[in-house]
Amino acid sequence: MTTKINFNGEIHDELNISVMDHGFLFGDSVYEVVSTLNSKLCFLDEHLDRLYNSAEAISIKIPCDKEWFREQLNNTLLAAGNKESYVRIIVTRGVGEINIDPSSCEHPNVILMVMDVTEYPKSCYEKGIQVALVSIKRNPRDSLNPNVKTGNYLNNVLAKMEANKLGAQDAIMVNPWGFLTEGTTSNLFFVREGHILTPSLDCGILSGITRLLVIELAKENGFHVEEGKWLGEELSTADEIFLTGTLKKVMPVSYLDGRPVGSGKPGPITLNLLRLYEDFLTKKA
Ligand code: PMP
Repeated sequence: MTTKINFNGEIHDELNISVMDHGFLFGDSVYEVVSTLNSKLCFLDEHLDRLYNSAEAISIKIPCDKEWFREQLNNTLLAAGNKESYVRIIVTRGVGEINIDPSSCEHPNVILMVMDVTEYPKSCYEKGIQVALVSIKRNPRDSLNPNVKTGNYLNNVLAKMEANKLGAQDAIMVNPWGFLTEGTTSNLFFVREGHILTPSLDCGILSGITRLLVIELAKENGFHVEEGKWLGEELSTADEIFLTGTLKKVMPVSYLDGRPVGSGKPGPITLNLLRLYEDFLTKKA
């Protein structure tokens, strides 16, 4: 159970970073979370592509190439020596003057954190989790676009706090026009009359790597999948709900706003997709 932190190519046990880094001062950074299976990084190419896209969207110039990331990530994983790891890749705007103008930040910092992974308890997958439709809205796409994965997650933090206050483990947010978007760190799917429905990218969501794969696996296995726009209240008529994400995989939701979803247990289509996703990962590893 070791933590190793790679800072611009040097591996440390702990890291103190300047308070003048705009990543700290303004959440001015981009990041990715990558999981491992049999000590190998899952979907690293997809995560690196998204990291570079996010950085480009907010004009952070990442000072190294993808090969550098692959090499440094492997070195850091090796130094940590964990069986499986939680890997967080962060690129900050870098150190600058203490005002919001990023032009004084000349050198982005690249941080690779490798930590022991804490998996979701088995009981979450067996029983499903509880979620709440919260009043905090997901940012509209013409503000901080949810499809850009930055270190500025305060909107989602507030949504999570609201959900916790309501006795739920996670929050589902709608956009300012009332359409369903996603969870605080996961994408949303629901099932109605055997069809799998998920908010489309234009609702203002992160294009999740797990989401894309689940859509692909579902289609390959004969399910009808629809990406579209649904109002928040439509979720209450769902037969099944699940969330997808790198760490959650395919997480069944059994209660919405304190009321059971379907039978109040993980639904058959959700469990089928969880199995298909896990089989895909195992085969790939
Ligand atoms: N939405 C948000 C807001 C997230 O933070 C995440 C986690 N990165 C996801 C969706 C799921 O994305 P992925 O499947 O790529 O982990």
